[in-house]
Parts: sequence; C-alpha cells; structure tokens
Amino acid sequence: MKRYFKNIWDSFYTIAIGMGVTFRHLFSRAVTIQYPDVKPELTDRARNRLYVNMDDCIGCDQCSKACPVNCIEIETVKAVPPDDLGVTSTGNPKRLWVTKFDIDIAKCCYCGLCVYPCPTECIKMTDVYEFSEFDRHNLVYNYSTMTPAEIEEAKQKFEKWQADKAAAKKAAAEKKKEGGEKPKAKKQESDESSDNTKSES
Ligand code: SF4
Ligand code: SF4
Repeated sequence: MKRYFKNIWDSFYTIAIGMGVTFRHLFSRAVTIQYPDVKPELTDRARNRLYVNMDDCIGCDQCSKACPVNCIEIETVKAVPPDDLGVTSTGNPKRLWVTKFDIDIAKCCYCGLCVYPCPTECIKMTDVYEFSEFDRHNLVYNYSTMTPAEIEEAKQKFEKWQADKAAAKKAAAEKKKEGGEKPKAKKQESDESSDNTKSES
C-alpha cells in the first residue's frame, strides 16, 4: 500500500519538474527557427555545395588529386593550333579542353581540400545547402560545358595533330639519315680516287 502511494507521488513530482522546465522556457529567447520558412544565417566560410566556374578552369587536375574521397573526375584534351583557348580571369593560359568535370557530391565530405590548390580559384564552396534528391545519380554534377560533338571534334583534332607530328618527325629522321649517308658516299669516292692515283704512280 505504501509503495502504491509512493509511485503516485513520484509521478506527480516528476511531472511537476518537467513542467517547471517548460514554464521557464516560455519566458526565455527561442533558440530554434521555423525552418524552412526561416533560413539559418551561415558563416562566411561555411562549406556546402561546390561550384566550378568552367570559364576559369584550366583542367590542371589539382583539385581532383587533393580530394580524399576521389569524387572529382576530370578528363582533358590538349588544344592544338589554330585553337586558342585564351586566358582565365587570373591570367593563366588555357591549354586544355576540359571534356569532363564531374563531382559526385553524394560522396563529398565537404572538407574543402579541393578549393585551396586551385591556381585560378575557380572551384568554390557556396552557401547552397538544399540540394537533396530522390535519385542519388542526380547528385553527380557535370560541370563541363562542352557538347559531345565538341568533345569528339577536340579529340579528332588532337589525334590528327599527333599523327602529323609523328609523320613530320619520321620524315625529319629519314632526311637526317640520308644527309648522313651522302658524306660517307663522298668519302668512299675520294678513297677510291686516291687509290687510283697511287696505283698510277
Ligand atoms: S570538398 Fe573535399 S570531398 Fe568534397 S570534392 Fe572537395 S576535396 Fe573532395
Ligand atoms: S584545380 Fe581549378 S583549374 Fe585545376 S582542374 Fe580543378 S577547378 Fe580546374
């Protein structure tokens, strides 16, 4: 019987403690916000979704190499004459077509290590944090601005340039070889004539 009344007392006592805490908070400043109607204020260096300004990307691969989880994939093709890709806004010459620049943001751990080595400061953390998707494949962001046709054209130009270069190198080597054989032939001729002179005398 004693235990029965003690349990009733404990119940009312603990409810009173809980309600006391609730009552105190009725008069203190709220620390929560009505998200998503109210957005939280982010600090200047908050790390959220990445952004790449492809106009300034030189395809150097530094960001990809720095990524600890390998979520950046870059493919490039060398630009060949007469194509001139110009320079970035930081003055760095652009020599490569960036045919692929994918970031799998689902793998990203927001460490920011890809941002610091970029020589043109074109990869940045933004304040965008609302980018959830139902299909995680949609979290692979393709930043390359080239169309499949442009990529194919760039590849073909590079292959042709390489083939032309190899042919020119081969031709130069053959020419050099021929040039090296002629003096030998001349030497042979002079040796023969000196032999003839000796035999006549
Ligand atoms: S923030 Fe970190 S994990 Fe994400 S892409 Fe950059 S280096 Fe990789
Ligand atoms: S480090 Fe910068 S310039 Fe180099 S590939 Fe990455 S984003 Fe482009």
